[in-house]
Amino acid sequence: MRIIIVGGGTAGWSCAAALSKNKNLDITIIDAKDSSSIGVGESTLPLIHQFHNKFRLFEDDSWIKRVNGTLKFTLEFEGFMKNSRSKWVHPLSTNKDYEQFMSLRNTQLDNLTLSDKFFYSQNLRNSSYNDIDKSSARIGAFHLDALLYSKELKKVALKRGVKFLEKSVKEIIKEGEITKYIVLDDKERLEAELFIDSTGFKNLFFENVPFESFSNRLFCDKAVAIKLPYKDLKKQKINATLAKALKNGWVWHVPLENNIGVGYVYSSRHINDDEAKKELCLYLKNNYGYELENDKFLSLSYRVGVHKNSWIGNNVAIGLSSFFIEPIESTGIALFQIQIMELADILESNPRFYKNFIPKYNKRIYDYVCSVKDFIEMHYILSNRDDSRFWIDSSNIEINKLQNKIINFYEKQNYSELLNFSLSGIFGNLSWFHLLLGMDSNKDNNIDKC
Ligand SMILES: Cc1cc2nc3c(=O)[nH]c(=O)nc-3n(C[C@H](O)[C@H](O)[C@H](O)COP(=O)(O)OP(=O)(O)OC[C@H]3O[C@@H](n4cnc5c(N)ncnc54)[C@H](O)[C@@H]3O)c2cc1C
Repeated sequence: MRIIIVGGGTAGWSCAAALSKNKNLDITIIDAKDSSSIGVGESTLPLIHQFHNKFRLFEDDSWIKRVNGTLKFTLEFEGFMKNSRSKWVHPLSTNKDYEQFMSLRNTQLDNLTLSDKFFYSQNLRNSSYNDIDKSSARIGAFHLDALLYSKELKKVALKRGVKFLEKSVKEIIKEGEITKYIVLDDKERLEAELFIDSTGFKNLFFENVPFESFSNRLFCDKAVAIKLPYKDLKKQKINATLAKALKNGWVWHVPLENNIGVGYVYSSRHINDDEAKKELCLYLKNNYGYELENDKFLSLSYRVGVHKNSWIGNNVAIGLSSFFIEPIESTGIALFQIQIMELADILESNPRFYKNFIPKYNKRIYDYVCSVKDFIEMHYILSNRDDSRFWIDSSNIEINKLQNKIINFYEKQNYSELLNFSLSGIFGNLSWFHLLLGMDSNKDNNIDKC
């Protein structure tokens, strides 16, 4: 089967490297000469191990160094509650942790003690990959530079026979839902049985396809980002992704090996670009001593939502062309890795009848994205901050059925139901539990939103 992937960002090269394990696929990837792929310092989830193993992408762990990578065991959230010193931790859990937790669930523990008890985040907080035993490393995830990670995946893909054209797609010729051929900037025409759209927010093959926006529930739609040298290694270079809430959004801190990726995610309905940049500069000055007024920041606008159908006819959207929520729980790369694994399974086991699986694929991907959305919304809904219009508006969105059900379990201290309730998606019961406990333990009163 001939496949053309358009777009050589992290999603495109991940797809090329992964699918090329299947020797029955003849794959070409096309990326513009002046590639515009996104790389801000990305935080990943443990699913990355499954993705690498499934497609045998790397023989050893030396790739971690080449992507400026560090380890990640937890996500930490500061200032999401009225109390500016409020903090909660989302550990990357395993089943073993879950069993241990179940045996102690009736003990009165707060989120930080629990995280420490089960997830060794404190004693491994500053350790480097070389310092720890490799089985521990495999439980967590990584911080990495997505542009360097793409380069590593590109090497794998090219070695496995993927053809690369450094050109732009100028035109897509369709008959109904079927893409017949594409036209490149040098007028060359290319045909394929399957086209993968990894063109990011350009969304080339899905431009006229309905997009379900989540912007009425998740207000952040912009980011201003920069990579910085470390000022204080002990404080900044930790095996955790820190999210620090500010007045109109929150700041990510993604510690890489040689520098740190920082960015302010904000809502353009509540603050303009200049004000956002000023707020970020002031925060970085007051907390870390950076003087950045004249530095060059990367500005990013994004849409939050999903294509209900990410596979239509012979076009499949993978990565930002298909969905984006916001980076607060590091789900961008993990979600497209799921897309690629699902697609690869269909092409491997049912190459001749793959079209029959399109509706099932679409539903699964849509459900994954929506389950992440439900979880992410709670970071705002449960906040009791009222010091800005942004926090008042974000915390006042209506709770949906699933969120209500889980909050009820928690409020009634029905932890057994909460932990055994059937949940699909990336974030399991323990993640929800930590979120509820974490935000609740930073509040004077119990959750009072229902
Ligand atoms: C603010 C922000 C923060 C993020 N943080 C995280 C994080 O912490 N963790 C995480 O997991 N994910 C994160 N992500 C998401 C992650 O960066 C992306 O999912 C990832 O980079 C994949 O992007 P992509 O390949 O889909 O698109 P892009 O990186 O945008 O790549 C698109 C590619 O398509 C090419 N292209 C476009 N048009 C054409 C054309 N006509 N012809 C040929 N080529 C074309 C471009 O040159 C580019 O190379 C973040 C995203 C944003 C916006």
